[in-house]
Amino acid sequence: MLDSHTHSAYSADSKMPLDELITTAIGLNLDYLAVTDHMDRDFLFCTNCKPVAQIDLPAYAKAVTEAKARYGDRLNLAFGIECGYSEASAEMCKKELSGYDFDLIINSIHTVKNEDIYTPSYYAKKTKDEIFVPYLNAVDESLDAEIPYDIVAHLGYIARKAPFEFRYADYDGLFDRILSRIIQKGKCLEINSHVKFAKTDFFPGIDILKRYRELGGELLTFSSDAHQPYRVAEKYNLIRDAAKSLGFRYFAGYKGHKATMYTLLS
Ligand SMILES: [Zn+2]
Ligand SMILES: [Zn+2]
Repeated sequence: MLDSHTHSAYSADSKMPLDELITTAIGLNLDYLAVTDHMDRDFLFCTNCKPVAQIDLPAYAKAVTEAKARYGDRLNLAFGIECGYSEASAEMCKKELSGYDFDLIINSIHTVKNEDIYTPSYYAKKTKDEIFVPYLNAVDESLDAEIPYDIVAHLGYIARKAPFEFRYADYDGLFDRILSRIIQKGKCLEINSHVKFAKTDFFPGIDILKRYRELGGELLTFSSDAHQPYRVAEKYNLIRDAAKSLGFRYFAGYKGHKATMYTLLS
């Protein structure tokens, strides 16, 4: 059992102490835990949101490195980061990330055209196409980010707040392009169990995951995106069973940007 995407108090939107995150994971018998706090340089260019506190990277790196020494005999702990991609912040991220020895980097879209898509007013007076097409184009663009990322985050994040369902059939061409490029680039798709208001148990949904498999996708991982202790590994069994039903056999856990394949047991 693993969790490839979690947040501690080094993220502006979590109050969970790093030690509590790790001891919660140990208590749940996780084999592998990636701590992947937010690097939100995209929000420095955001036009529709208040300033977001930025991560103290040196302090974060030191804390996770020390935690690895403290807890390494009890679970496989990985030092990661979730980097919010935007064209405006791409160069800044590339420079900063190169100074650290991450086990994994998660590449995320939280803003579209420098607007925060978590802000409910973003959706006012927008049609389904006006919401999903720019989002999918932003995800597609982020795949070319010049950072050594491993995981493509929460494909469908926009549906946490959007008043429409996020379905493969509605944008099959765009989905095929994105999924094929993830496969070509050797990147890993995550299944994220943090769905907020969306009418689904996870992102991307089963229809999109099915297509990923049909196109030859194999690299997959589980992500709770937990910001609180009770959400660590949330819906793991449900998501593992969904992945197995589609023919996936492993979840990847990254160390030093190399994937260890964890067999999906029931
Ligand atoms: Zn995210
Ligand atoms: Zn996250």
